Amino acid sequence: MHLPVLPTSRSTPLSHPAGPIHELHDAHGRVIRDLRISITDRCNFRCVYCMEPDVRFKRKIELLTDSEIVRTVRVARSLGVRRVRLTGGEPSIHPTLDALIRDIWAVGLDDLSMTSNGSVLNEGELAQLKDAGLQRLTVSLDSLRTDRFRALTRSAATPARVLETVEAAKRVGLEPVRINAVIVRGFNDDEIADLAALARVYDADVRLIEYMPLDSGRQWEMSKVVPIDEIVDRVHAVFPIEAAGRERTSSPATGFRFADGGPGRFGVIASVTRPFCGACSRLRITADGMVMPCLFSTDEYDLRAVLRDDRSTDGDIAGFLAAATLRKQAGHGIHDEGYRQPDRPMSAIGG
Ligand code: SAM
Ligand code: SF4
Repeated sequence: MHLPVLPTSRSTPLSHPAGPIHELHDAHGRVIRDLRISITDRCNFRCVYCMEPDVRFKRKIELLTDSEIVRTVRVARSLGVRRVRLTGGEPSIHPTLDALIRDIWAVGLDDLSMTSNGSVLNEGELAQLKDAGLQRLTVSLDSLRTDRFRALTRSAATPARVLETVEAAKRVGLEPVRINAVIVRGFNDDEIADLAALARVYDADVRLIEYMPLDSGRQWEMSKVVPIDEIVDRVHAVFPIEAAGRERTSSPATGFRFADGGPGRFGVIASVTRPFCGACSRLRITADGMVMPCLFSTDEYDLRAVLRDDRSTDGDIAGFLAAATLRKQAGHGIHDEGYRQPDRPMSAIGG
């Protein structure tokens, strides 16, 4: 099979080898079933590991419109994508989130979820999102201490407000609610057991995440990563846990249940010390319409240009997604000597 030349810039056009496309296969035997779409690059927080205080957001014209997002999902669905997660930036501040969710869900998916900082959603809005088709909510909460939380998010918000969102999401049936926390040594590693305890209190899925070299300030160091084994030991010392395996083969979290049969589930996303790249089934689309085949991709592919070309058919979009998938790298390469951090921080990729 002849492959097009590797693109080196975001404007390089991509084409797929001739022939019918039924699924999104990469060159390493993986098939894409999950799409992560960043629906905005804006956020009401400026988390220190994610977004600089003086961040410059894209102009509105540069961001994909709702109809461009929905068209992309429809084409991806026809190629075997089953699950979509909306992210950002902060997706809950997207001005037409309800309508967007309704249109995406109407495409016919197995799952539609959203990752949010949980700081501005109220119960009425959550009920509307559920009604529109949202199936599950993940909230990010890295500290239960108000002073720490405020320093981290560079905001006046509180962990209590985020936990209100968790409770409201449960009441409207967005279950199981997931709570994600990034663990950074010297910052919140003393809260590991407290954060895991949220699983028991809220009957939620708590996922503790190894800190990844995707921070806007480029302050990441391996010494700040708390490895999965240490996270598990620290939880086990307070709440004995036993292995529960992965939810799906492609799930990024190593799962555990509480040995006493207590409510909730607990998992660790060990992207740094125990990469799960071999089972990855994800493709990412940034708010400005670039396909990033991997969270750690240094190449990105300009889907927006294809979507905005009046001559593009759905077949052209399918071919573009398939060609971008063929460039999906085998692994993130964090530990390789020549590792280069993507130019985009997490906020601009959509974590
Ligand atoms: N604003 C939403 C939120 O905070 O949940 C969605 C977007 S945010 C970029 C998605 C996730 O990426 C959050 O859970 C956040 O904690 C995580 N994240 C951001 N920077 C990270 C980093 N350097 N390492 C690991 N996770 C990170
Ligand atoms: Fe905003 Fe989420 Fe990034 Fe924090 S992690 S700055 S909430 S996008």
